[in-house]
Amino acid sequence: MAGQDGYSRERWKKYKRLVERHHFKISGEAGGLMKPYWVKTPNWLKNTLPKSLIWDMPVTQTPSVYITFDDGPHPIATPFALQQLDKYNAKATFFCVGANVERYPELFTEIKARGHAVANHTFNHLNGWKTDTSSYLDNVQIADKFIGSRAFRPPYGKLTPAQLKGLTSIENPMKIYMWDVLSADFDQKISIDECVNNVVAHIQPGSIALFHDSEKSWRLMSAALPQTLAYCAKQNWQMLALPVD
Ligand SMILES: [Zn+2]
Repeated sequence: MAGQDGYSRERWKKYKRLVERHHFKISGEAGGLMKPYWVKTPNWLKNTLPKSLIWDMPVTQTPSVYITFDDGPHPIATPFALQQLDKYNAKATFFCVGANVERYPELFTEIKARGHAVANHTFNHLNGWKTDTSSYLDNVQIADKFIGSRAFRPPYGKLTPAQLKGLTSIENPMKIYMWDVLSADFDQKISIDECVNNVVAHIQPGSIALFHDSEKSWRLMSAALPQTLAYCAKQNWQMLALPVD
């Protein structure tokens, strides 16, 4: 049976198996030597999945990278990120949790006022694989009332074919942004240097890099973001917001 985007259910199953094997989620359940996530999203994974998932941006004449933040707004992490971005005249994209926008509307307004893009990350940070389709889509809709963006990133990168279809096979489809480079700023087991290296060793023109403006990621993000921005500036890369209309 054909799935969405002409991709078979077998391909989705393969993806789920691969992801489950790698514990591709923001938690501390990993065992052994393997990291529970990919720092650089492998090309074979990008190519396995439906084309409607955006992992990186086209390389333009002026080299550009796309810094993104998930899970805010947060009263400490978000103002810090905004201040750091301003230092480099960098623009970023904030994938906001609707409940946090409701709680901190002035921070949300500030993100937009500084020229950054805002995007939807569900209202309650739902795991798509543990949520039925209509509840998931309803939750995105509720978040949309607070956020008002046609860009979306699924929490944990987890989405079912039906959810993807619900978000993209509509008159005004959502752009679904995944990521190319993961800072892993949520990983309590890594050092600041490792977090910085996760990004600078892999980021390249067109990359979508992922940080978090959240409580959990504060220790690493607050140290790694300034170094990452300095690195990108030194490469003469523009730091741009993603298209969210
Ligand atoms: Zn998230």
